Amino acid sequence: MVEHQLRRRDIVDEDVLRALERVPRELFVPERERRRAYEDAALPIGQGQTISQPYMVARICEALAVRPGWRVLDVGTGSGYQAAVLAELGAEVVTIERIAELAEQARANLAAAGYDRVDVVVGDGTLGLPERAPFDGIAVAAAAPELPQTLYEQLRPGGRLVVPVGGQRAQRLEVIVRSPEGPAVVHSVPCRFVPLVGVEGFGR
Ligand code: SAH
Repeated sequence: MVEHQLRRRDIVDEDVLRALERVPRELFVPERERRRAYEDAALPIGQGQTISQPYMVARICEALAVRPGWRVLDVGTGSGYQAAVLAELGAEVVTIERIAELAEQARANLAAAGYDRVDVVVGDGTLGLPERAPFDGIAVAAAAPELPQTLYEQLRPGGRLVVPVGGQRAQRLEVIVRSPEGPAVVHSVPCRFVPLVGVEGFGR
C-alpha cells in the first residue's frame, strides 16, 4: 500500500509514509471488508460512512505537517484510522464523531491497535472543542460547504486546518494557515468525502 499507492504517487514525507506503514488498517475496517483493507479505496464502516482512502489520509497528514507533541483535533472519527495515524506521528489527538455507535467502535479499534491515548468525543465537530483549544492542527475528514470559521478560530497563530471544501459530491482539499492577515488558503487536490453534517456543515 505504502509503496504503490503513496510513494509512487506523490507522498514524499517519510514520517507520514512510516506512520501509514505502522498502523494496521485491517483493524479499522469491519470483518467483512478485511480482505480489502489495503486497497486504494474508501470502504464502508456502517451508518452510511466510510474509512478514508489511505492516499487521502497521507495527504491530510502531509498537509498538516504534524510534529511530535502537537495537539491535534481530528473531526469525523469514523473508524479511528486517521486519528491513529496522527497519534503514530507523535501528536496528542482528540477526535470528534457525531454518530455515537461509530465513536464506540472507533474506541475499540484504537484500543485493539494500541492507540488508547487517543481521546474520542461524541458531538458536532463543526463547533470544534473550545474547551480544548487552541490546536496546532485540525484535520477534517468530511466535506464542508465553506471554510469552517469556528474551527479556524480554534487554531493557534500559525496553526493549520486541512478540510475538504466544496459541494456534496466533489471537493478540493484545502490547507488553511491561521495568520495575522486572516486565513491563508492553499488549494490542494480534488477529493470526494462524505458530507460534514452539523451547524457549520450541510445541515442535519
Ligand atoms: N477519518 C475517518 C473518516 C470517516 S468519514 C476514518 O479514517 O475512518 C467521516 C466521518 O465524519 C463520518 O464518520 C461522519 O459520521 C463524521 N461526521 C460528519 N459530520 C460530522 C460532524 N459535524 N462532527 C463530527 N463528525 C462528523
